[in-house]
Amino acid sequence: MDLFEKCYEYTIVEEARKAGTYPYFHEITTQQHSEVTMYGKRTIMLGSNNYLGLTSDRRVIDASRAALEQYGSGCSGSRFLNGTLSIHNELEGKLADFFQKEAVITFSTGFQTNLGIVAALVGRHDLMFYDRANHASLVDASRLAYGKMVRFGHNDMQELEGLLKKAGDSHGKLIVVDGVFSMEGDLCNLPELVRLKKEYNARLMVDDSHGAGVMGATGRGTGEYYGFMDDIDIYMGTFSKAFASLGGFAATQAKVVEYMRHHSRPFIFSASMPPANVASVLEVLRILQADPDIVKRVMDNAEYMRKGFRELGLPSLDSIAPIIPIMTYTNDRTFLITRSLLDHGVYVNPVISPAVPVGGCLLRTSYTSTHTKEQLDYALEQFDLVLNRLYPITQEEIQQAKHSQMDGQSDEE
Ligand code: PMP
Repeated sequence: MDLFEKCYEYTIVEEARKAGTYPYFHEITTQQHSEVTMYGKRTIMLGSNNYLGLTSDRRVIDASRAALEQYGSGCSGSRFLNGTLSIHNELEGKLADFFQKEAVITFSTGFQTNLGIVAALVGRHDLMFYDRANHASLVDASRLAYGKMVRFGHNDMQELEGLLKKAGDSHGKLIVVDGVFSMEGDLCNLPELVRLKKEYNARLMVDDSHGAGVMGATGRGTGEYYGFMDDIDIYMGTFSKAFASLGGFAATQAKVVEYMRHHSRPFIFSASMPPANVASVLEVLRILQADPDIVKRVMDNAEYMRKGFRELGLPSLDSIAPIIPIMTYTNDRTFLITRSLLDHGVYVNPVISPAVPVGGCLLRTSYTSTHTKEQLDYALEQFDLVLNRLYPITQEEIQQAKHSQMDGQSDEE
């Protein structure tokens, strides 16, 4: 049997391209602002995780360029050996101060951070308790770790408590959740997670990729938002969103960082973050501390859109983070609407199963501090046109989607 057979039989993409609804890999030819150029046309960007709008900030670019000149273009080695630059240590120190933990370890991507932490910590006799909506990188991390993964329903604290109770105290236990869930933009129930981890002697890891630099009055994340920063045992984040760069980090106890620096394979056997990327994160951190209002600006923009969607009667979900989902239910409708919005100058992310449950497809819209009211008003007009007037959904379609959602869930079980 030819190993490539599956590739030859995979024709769905070709078909979508022919139908003109293929929604991925659109090229951007400009800097990644709140507005970009796609297909030679100005397009409002409502699909980026550049929450603070700093990827094209002059100060960040200059800091990045200076590091490039000083240290060169790449590290050509892992942190463990020849790949530790003075700015790596500086960044880890400053992040530890900012997120109020003893120490920080950085990795070259957020995905790698999750692989590196979970696999290093969760040994053969340990258990990891996972929210069902956790990010794909955490799911893959659980496959790499030797311990057993136990899943609980999304934000179902009662189910988690039952599982923790059942597990007893003869295993090391790590509860793992997203701080801000990336697709729906809802938050973990941190107060309850903290109560449970204390009561059942577990450790708590929060992947706050979408919360770090964004949530809480000063951008210190979901822990700050809830007033529970100290109770998160491992605070994880990425640099590819609010921090306008690439890389990831975990903030925790110094002893845990020391252990990971000597046991985490994705840390030891992979090259370290390039200097320009490190310097951009340092500059974002400086800006965030000098101007904490930048966080308020992104939240205000998200609130403006939430209100706008409500007024238009669109099926948006009430999130708290600057991610606002709008339900489109089926794959076909999601692709059709994404395409039409793009034709009308608005880019949004189409989200289908398995990123969300079958029948729960949505448009993921996200906001930055730098979106202007004019851009947001323009986008709202296009949402009204495309979702309400050109392609209004029928009750029958919603019912059908709900049925397929139920079927999809039972398939998964
Ligand atoms: N965790 C979550 C919740 C994410 O959304 C992402 C990125 N989409 C990652 C981890 C991975 O981060 P990175 O892009 O830095 O690899």
